[in-house]
Amino acid sequence: MSIDKLDLELLNNEYKNKSPFEIIKYVYDKIGASRVALASSLSIEDQLLTDILLKIDNKARIFFIDTGRHFQSTYDLMDRTMRKYHFNYEVYTPENYDLEPLIREYGPNLFYKNVDLRKKCCEIRKVKPLKRVLATVDGWICGLRRQQSVTRENVNIFEWDYNHSIYKINPIAFWTENMVWDYIKKENIPYNSLYDKGFRSIGCQPCTRAVKPGEDVRSGRWWWEDPDKKECGLHIQKHNAE
Ligand code: SF4
Repeated sequence: MSIDKLDLELLNNEYKNKSPFEIIKYVYDKIGASRVALASSLSIEDQLLTDILLKIDNKARIFFIDTGRHFQSTYDLMDRTMRKYHFNYEVYTPENYDLEPLIREYGPNLFYKNVDLRKKCCEIRKVKPLKRVLATVDGWICGLRRQQSVTRENVNIFEWDYNHSIYKINPIAFWTENMVWDYIKKENIPYNSLYDKGFRSIGCQPCTRAVKPGEDVRSGRWWWEDPDKKECGLHIQKHNAE
């Protein structure tokens, strides 16, 4: 069957209670493993999916956007994960011609000055590199979960990505945080040591902090901004971006 014939509503009903293994196998079968890639930020969700993808196909495409501002523990985890699974990430970085003028004009800590500059930084360090990798695939796999924040409560397993005109697959859209941790512990999957220090969603170091018990999982990201608006742009769809 051609991927054009995929019916998202039917698929979401059919796969709602299926495992990530079954979902990813279906996607590989329909789209082809070489035309699908996992976006990993080394979160627990992405580590779980990395484990599953590499168990299905040890040549699975897994990419990491190196913004240049990640925590050292994230880079250490990247090393550990590569050693454990014997694979290499596809790494994408911001373009020098975008980044150098930005830092020259606004300084290295521009994200704290105002929301427009924060979004500009995310655009150059994350969104533009993402566009380069997504131009090489027909579908991308993400670790988004409905429970993560108000901005993600309508996430579905199979989606059409209007920004890039490709499929977006969220195999653990309905998982809870506890389910993810159970899998991580059971399979002895390496995870970022910051989780043991109160962090629950980990991005760039200047824009991430630990959260208190009971707070939203993503409340430690861009904590100075309105919770309804704070996404980095990687997961905002054109039709609901306003
Ligand atoms: Fe820049 Fe912060 Fe966005 Fe990272 S999360 S790209 S440092 S604004």
